[in-house]
Amino acid sequence: MLSPEELLRYSRQTMLKSIGEQGQQNLKNAKVLIVGVGGLGNPVSLYLNAAGIGTIYLVDGDSIDISNLPRQILFTESHLSQGKADIAAEVLQQQNSTTTVEVLDEMLDEELADYYFPLVDLVLDCTDNIATRYLINQKCLAHKKPLIIGAATGFDGQYMFVDPNANDSACYQCLFPQSKKAPENNCQTLGILGPILAIVGGVQALQAIKFLAGNNIDTNQLNIFDGLSNSWQKLTVKKQQQCTACSSLQ
Ligand SMILES: [Zn+2]
Repeated sequence: MLSPEELLRYSRQTMLKSIGEQGQQNLKNAKVLIVGVGGLGNPVSLYLNAAGIGTIYLVDGDSIDISNLPRQILFTESHLSQGKADIAAEVLQQQNSTTTVEVLDEMLDEELADYYFPLVDLVLDCTDNIATRYLINQKCLAHKKPLIIGAATGFDGQYMFVDPNANDSACYQCLFPQSKKAPENNCQTLGILGPILAIVGGVQALQAIKFLAGNNIDTNQLNIFDGLSNSWQKLTVKKQQQCTACSSLQ
């Protein structure tokens, strides 16, 4: 049951048909894990925490650098050299004291994924390196956890929803087989502009809230944003029968 304070606090959300009081209760009961508390993890965690997601795990072993500040909007100059996950948790608890934020101030590895993924309802990939992306994808498949992948470089962004519990949902490796790795481009080599991360992270948070509130989210789609022309493109991604990550699991 939502308390009178919660009904007031989330009233603009519960009046939406796709959320309602039951959806808000679902958000309160939900547990999510965000891998990467950088450019994407910042807006994603802010919006999910503000929306009343009950428990948020933040995974990041990195510390705050001055070159992060133009886009990682949770952090200020006073936070330099401190742990990203720690500081993010502090700010999020000030934003919403009714949610639980758990800090895992280390980089994701197999052991961490095997322990924490089974505890949550949804994983959000907010990383910027390919090796971790493959690991998150494989562990979400193994533990049957839905996954929202976000990525951004330069003026380009993309997101994709993978649901291992849905029939024929394509996974990240169906799109980028490990043998033909996705290009190793990241913010350090290609640059990035803050609002691109706000857009992609905003859409990741939007999809997460709709899904956790109880709505259906389309799988098998790669949504690509071009920040120079301000346009979205939707590509259909088919599940690959020979995919080494997901084909053997069904
Ligand atoms: Zn696959």
